[in-house]
Amino acid sequence: MAKSMTIRKGDRVRVIAGKDKGKESRVLRVNPETQRLVVEHVNMIKKHQRPTNKQPQGGILEVEGTIHASNVMLLCPNCSEPTRVGRRREDGTRIRTCKKCGQDIDK
Ligand SMILES: [Zn+2]
Repeated sequence: MAKSMTIRKGDRVRVIAGKDKGKESRVLRVNPETQRLVVEHVNMIKKHQRPTNKQPQGGILEVEGTIHASNVMLLCPNCSEPTRVGRRREDGTRIRTCKKCGQDIDK
């Protein structure tokens, strides 16, 4: 079973390691199997495209590569600080909480 992730699609995160360290952006995709994320405009990589009729010499496309979940911290929507994530249960659902300000991250 895939480990659940504390970071979810749509979260804002701060990159804390790698070439985009310090950037703050939005999570586009998460992969719980690999614990890797795609974060908007972070870890851009060049992809070579095959030549097509429209572009006979092919092209280079810049797309987001994945980064490991341990390289980002969640930005708390309440206190705007990068934080570790706590959890509590309410009516059977898990709600993420901010370790810095103690408030709920999920409404
Ligand atoms: Zn907070």
